[in-house]
Amino acid sequence: MRRFLLALLVVGMIGVSGRQVFADDTNANSQPFQSSFFSPDTVNDNDFQFSNSSQRPNAERLAIPQNTPTPLEGIRWKKKNITIYMETTDPKLKWAFRDAVKKWNKTKAVHIRWIKDEEKANIIAADGDLARNSTGNNNVGYTTSELGSTRTEYDPTTNTLHKATSTLDPNQLDYTNQEFRSEVAQHELGHALGLAHAPEYEHSVMIPRNIKNGITKNDAKTLRMLYAD
Ligand SMILES: [Zn+2]
Repeated sequence: MRRFLLALLVVGMIGVSGRQVFADDTNANSQPFQSSFFSPDTVNDNDFQFSNSSQRPNAERLAIPQNTPTPLEGIRWKKKNITIYMETTDPKLKWAFRDAVKKWNKTKAVHIRWIKDEEKANIIAADGDLARNSTGNNNVGYTTSELGSTRTEYDPTTNTLHKATSTLDPNQLDYTNQEFRSEVAQHELGHALGLAHAPEYEHSVMIPRNIKNGITKNDAKTLRMLYAD
């Protein structure tokens, strides 16, 4: 019986402090970390011909392209047809997620489709209070609040994404304009599709600090490379 070896990755904390937008990037690097969420027996799930997981047929492992303009997490959905469920009921956030989905679909690299069944959806578009991750010191009136965050569950033996939840914080985004809210949603859905943070000097929606633009040509090219087959 096939057992999934799942790992978790939480990326994409975008934060604001005063008027400046920045990221809590403490755990954000371009490699998905393999945490200890494996069930102990998954290491020996090869009852038949393979003595260990490194000798599995390569066909199971999805190809991840090298040297893409925007960095990758090293994981992707198996197919380019991806489903998403709207969990948030906040009108502003719903608009932002819908607009972000349209913009990712415009790249033609993937086709993201809204569905009504949360259980079957690949991606969940959620809202939540992300200020709990505050790193600020309240004594000096400095607080940090994240605007968005994305949590992914994936199988590191096949590079396959199983579930992603992109969360926007309605309290933090309420007073921003709708274009900016869409860009934050585009950034978070970028993580949900397998994109990692881009360095400051790149032209990308995946720059964690100071989001200034939406999806760029570099991001579109990267996604087309990632979902080429
Ligand atoms: Zn991010």
